[in-house]
Amino acid sequence: MTALRAWKVSAEVDDGDMETILHAGSADAARQRGAWEFNTDEEVVAVKRYPRFDGLVGNALTYAMLALGWGFPCNKCGRVVYDSGLEEDDDSDWESDGPSLPSPRHLVRHGDVYCSSECCIARLRELRSYRENQWGVVADAVQRWPGIEITDSSGLTFGKDAHRNQVVGRVEFRFPGGRGSVSWCRYSPHVNVQARDVEAWEAFAVPLRSLEP
Ligand SMILES: [Zn+2]
Repeated sequence: MTALRAWKVSAEVDDGDMETILHAGSADAARQRGAWEFNTDEEVVAVKRYPRFDGLVGNALTYAMLALGWGFPCNKCGRVVYDSGLEEDDDSDWESDGPSLPSPRHLVRHGDVYCSSECCIARLRELRSYRENQWGVVADAVQRWPGIEITDSSGLTFGKDAHRNQVVGRVEFRFPGGRGSVSWCRYSPHVNVQARDVEAWEAFAVPLRSLEP
């Protein structure tokens, strides 16, 4: 499968030297994707065939890169993880063969690297509460304003309460009779309605409100 041909792409950008492995059918395609990933111009991206990683994706690719000395930021705390441990900035010889022993602490999940199981669990909790809030705000909105059409939703965190991050969620939707979209944050007493739709919104939402117990 040509799509699983591996390339090492690198570039010098403002943040320093970037380097990664990606899969593409041709050197040009690899350069294009590298430029996109590094957020830079194609001219500054160097591309080299890297057959030893052909066909490796997800966790397998991440483990192989770690074993060859690549470092990855922890997907939760951002500390750079190397196979030999944390933040050992020793210019590892990434082209050397021979598997090195993995650090007992770090782990890989869905291709993402975590410095520890604590960070992995914390990240999974964040993702879970994001999804719960995303579903929650959609369910609440649909129940509150039957007939709306949800066009966008998120479980974003807004601020903090006394105990933990408060994740409330936000939706955008269209409503019968309205021309623009409306946005609403879960638990908020207010909606954002475009000026041209204020009358249509009143006509739509006020009768619904009077039905509430
Ligand atoms: Zn971490």
